Amino acid sequence: MSSCGPGLIAGSVDMRIGIDLGGTKIEGIAMDDDGTVLWRRRVPAPREDYEATLVALVTLVRTIEKDVAQSGTVGVGIPGTISPATGVVKNANSTWLIGRSLDGDLSRMLERPVRFANDANCLAISEATDGAGAGAEVVFGVIVGTGTGGGVVVRRQALIGRNAVAGEWGHNPLPWPKAGEWPGPPCYCGRTGCIETFLSGPGLARDYVESDAERRSAEEIAHRAERGEPRALACLDRYEDRMARALASVINIIDPDVIVLGGGLSNVERLYTAVPRRWGPFVFSDRVDTRLVRAAHGDSSGVRGAAWLWPH
Ligand SMILES: [Zn+2]
Repeated sequence: MSSCGPGLIAGSVDMRIGIDLGGTKIEGIAMDDDGTVLWRRRVPAPREDYEATLVALVTLVRTIEKDVAQSGTVGVGIPGTISPATGVVKNANSTWLIGRSLDGDLSRMLERPVRFANDANCLAISEATDGAGAGAEVVFGVIVGTGTGGGVVVRRQALIGRNAVAGEWGHNPLPWPKAGEWPGPPCYCGRTGCIETFLSGPGLARDYVESDAERRSAEEIAHRAERGEPRALACLDRYEDRMARALASVINIIDPDVIVLGGGLSNVERLYTAVPRRWGPFVFSDRVDTRLVRAAHGDSSGVRGAAWLWPH
């Protein structure tokens, strides 16, 4: 990382710029010290083009600083991880970022150090700072959407880990498998039966089709369950049982105070009562006081967490 350049007054953290670099859009915000959003914009993300991605990121930061008439710290949430060993991006589903020195390149172009975190860590940081997990010592943030990711935050600091994969539970196997769940569906990571293949939106949709129903989106399946459609109800019932087992295994390892759900499936209201009702038998404890809650900042948690990568 470069040192503080002319774009940033050393020691000044008056304005935090957060950027959420997604596969199809880039969102930028400027946030002041108490979390108030001063500026917000979404722009399309250049696809399959690393150089254009860099230019889009730099342009967004420059535009924010011009419009707000302040310089700021920059934190970026990415759908992947900067490898501690090599300094380049890995595990990104925006594959044109893989192997690129995004940290070094962006820091140099913006003439200041830039902090990065994966999108699940950003969700966890945002919610632990001033969201649904505010005040909690240990927060496990989960994204259940296109994929299934996770991030651990301890006292408002993300736990990164030696390999920068702490919290990445999505490619662990579904624990305590039942008949028909093993070896489980094939996963893009090369293994079978990963938690992601059951708990992601596409995983829920696959389970619904396999129960002799037509192909529907996860959102539509949830709506059908609300209307009492039996196959959708049974499908959500299986989903909740699987999520309960998968989260119980997390509780047994890090025992978080709060588990925050983000991503499209976090809008399914019944999860917050049904899952805690089911996880008890799998947690090695006489009682379970862990709270399961929905992300308070919704879709904005990723970009807010990126802004909070720079501390007070
Ligand atoms: Zn996998």
